[in-house]
Amino acid sequence: MTIVFRLRSLDQDCFEIRYAAGVLRKGGLVAFPTETVYGLGALVWDEKAVERVFQVKGRPSDNPLIVHVFSVEMVEKVAARIPEDAYKLMEKAWPGPLTIVLPRGKSVPRSVTAGLDTVAVRMPSHPVALSLIRETGDPVAAPSANPSGKPSPTSGRHVVRDLMGKIEVILDAGETLYGVESTVVNITTDPPTLLRPGAITVEDVERILGRKILVPEFAKGLGHAEKPLAPGMKYRHYAPEAKLILVEAPSYDQECLKSLADYVKTKALSKGNGKLCLLATLETLQYYLGSGFETFILGSRGNLFEIAKNLFTLLRKVDEEQCTIVVAEGFPDMGLGLTIMNRLRKAASEKILVNC
Ligand code: AMP
Ligand code: MG
Repeated sequence: MTIVFRLRSLDQDCFEIRYAAGVLRKGGLVAFPTETVYGLGALVWDEKAVERVFQVKGRPSDNPLIVHVFSVEMVEKVAARIPEDAYKLMEKAWPGPLTIVLPRGKSVPRSVTAGLDTVAVRMPSHPVALSLIRETGDPVAAPSANPSGKPSPTSGRHVVRDLMGKIEVILDAGETLYGVESTVVNITTDPPTLLRPGAITVEDVERILGRKILVPEFAKGLGHAEKPLAPGMKYRHYAPEAKLILVEAPSYDQECLKSLADYVKTKALSKGNGKLCLLATLETLQYYLGSGFETFILGSRGNLFEIAKNLFTLLRKVDEEQCTIVVAEGFPDMGLGLTIMNRLRKAASEKILVNC
């Protein structure tokens, strides 16, 4: 049985949070809001509970979980050591949407890190997440609270739909702030390596560290390494049931946007039957008016924060609206654009580059 608590005020000491922390301590699973997406939490030391997280999500066992902490003392419990770069990042970016990969402490079960000798750690800023971890008194291992491969949940409603009956508690605090997952940076390499672009930009991370970090092709959502550097990268991710076609351009100035939109329409038309839908932007909407395609607006290209926030919500919406084909426009690989493109490329079953 799943208990759903709807949290209106974020009272730190509320009964619901104490109850949920008790469930975690007893080996149960709790879905909770963070500022990025909802997480599915288990007490980090409890191997059985951690195993159930993988089971409930249908997550491959070689895809490690992020360990969520409330304090630097909790980081010390899970990391073998904390390098200088980590202190810089923790000081400037925590609590917040940055996950730091550190040398693994011996007490962390192998299943949490998928057998790796590193551990990914994050201190979320959402008040519910923070008070849940504080009340639990120990770190909480938590991947996103969605079935593996599907778009991550950006509202309690999504979690209820996906996990009702499968876990003990869902803490529903409405919509999340960023709507995309945390940025993952491995600081055990020199220079540090971006493993996943996320809600905090590479540029911000570099500013904090005072040096460039490595951005591999796979972090853009391109290519595959034989031996994945970032676990989980070899799997298709974030995908709606509908077939997603991503149309990219070498640049996104007004002229290219017009060619892009023309191509998107042609591509959608060529797909014939089924319900054809478009993921567009305010800047391109004018080109689709009257085309007859169901068009969903991600936001303005001038506000990538808004586009990132709406992305997973709309990837779920296209399924709710029973679209069979979705044609999506690309974005520049910079700032939050890199994050958006990583998700879109991983979700896409077909990728096209137009000339302009
Ligand atoms: P999720 O919480 O579902 O967003 O997924 C967590 C992601 O964090 C994984 O897919 C990995 O890419 C990354 N991650 C977690 N632990 C590690 C680790 N020890 N080394 C590298 N990447 C990690
Ligand atoms: Mg995930």
